[in-house]
Amino acid sequence: LPRDFELARPVLQTIEQAGFEAYFVGGSVRDTILGKKIHDVDIATSAYPDEIKHLFKRTVDTGIDHGTVMILDHGTGYETTTFRSESTYTDFRRPDHVTFVRSLREDLKRRDFTINALAMRENGEVIDLFDGLADLKNRQIRAVGDPQERFHEDALRMMRAVRFASQLDFDIVPATLTAMADHANLLAKIAVERTQVELLKLFTGQTPQRGLNAMLKTQLWRYCPGFDHQEAALTHLAQRLTTGVSGEVAAWALLSLSFGLDHEQTTQFLKHWKTSNQVATDVQAVAVAAQALMTQPLDAWQLYRCGANRVPIANEVAVILGAPDRAKQLTEAIAALPIQQKRDVALTGKDLMQAGVQPGPQLGQILATLERQVVMGVVANDREALLAQAQTLN
Ligand code: ATP
Ligand code: MG
Repeated sequence: LPRDFELARPVLQTIEQAGFEAYFVGGSVRDTILGKKIHDVDIATSAYPDEIKHLFKRTVDTGIDHGTVMILDHGTGYETTTFRSESTYTDFRRPDHVTFVRSLREDLKRRDFTINALAMRENGEVIDLFDGLADLKNRQIRAVGDPQERFHEDALRMMRAVRFASQLDFDIVPATLTAMADHANLLAKIAVERTQVELLKLFTGQTPQRGLNAMLKTQLWRYCPGFDHQEAALTHLAQRLTTGVSGEVAAWALLSLSFGLDHEQTTQFLKHWKTSNQVATDVQAVAVAAQALMTQPLDAWQLYRCGANRVPIANEVAVILGAPDRAKQLTEAIAALPIQQKRDVALTGKDLMQAGVQPGPQLGQILATLERQVVMGVVANDREALLAQAQTLN
């Protein structure tokens, strides 16, 4: 058993000693069997939330309406969810109500894919009621039960299928893929924030090519904001994406460039996806630099504008789109920049005013010009030299 499971064993034992069942479930079981590193350990139990809270000193109600209580044990939090069945979905996205049940089978039956429907006892014994082990072995993603019903119940599962295809480098079995193609339009009903999570996991997964190709094959792409009319671009991008990207900024910049979006269109695109302002700012800077890198190295000003932290991402994006890899050259060029940011300029507005420049727009312009001239090596980043240069600009 991995260390994280060893640490969590006493938690399962406590629940079992009280007469309930408790299992490790979900991604941690799947990833353990695959020999991958696990992140969070999820627990499923026959005990009701109140019963769990009674058993442990420290718990947090993280999702009590859905039956989830977080148990805090030796500094680690364990999401512990009562076995539940989710029967009636009328809006294609979440169960109308949650029914707690006392049977593990009922709980595993409502899970999305067979590889995610495995449970593990405290002693490491695997409970495999839906042939998830065989699918893990054959590296396949297969819906639990009737795939048509499952995607009709919850359309987000289709995005989960394509992201697991990328993250795990697995195939989606034909019946599951067909059901996705049949229900692709239901993705439009899903909150864009939830689709975004899966899309980004697809892009950062080990084989985004697989995930994107599955989106193309099932037409899922059509129901992603701002993807309309981009089939050719997505097909081309899929061919180039032989490995995962470093993060969300790279993913969005890649899409912006692939789709040929200008600054304003990129702003709108990211708004549709509800990205944060910080991400939007980063994406715009990376897109500009990556676009430039498609044809030539960056000059000092372009490097400076993009910023030391974002230049590697711009290079990554440009390389994926076919530019030569300039990583080393760019790192050296950044290190060689006279300054990295505005506040590194060795002269302030206050200094300028003391030298007799009137406050106002003119002063701002002088400072901006000096900043650019320092970056370009026109003037040394030295207070005296900058003051002298300022006189020629005033
Ligand atoms: P990750 O490694 O990304 O956390 P995961 O498989 O643990 O992958 P989670 O989103 O953390 O994914 O969900 C935990 C488990 O809950 C899944 O393994 C699956 O059994 C179940 N699950 C999650 N989302 C759904 C869904 N939309 N429909 C059915 N079951 C789901
Ligand atoms: Mg998880």
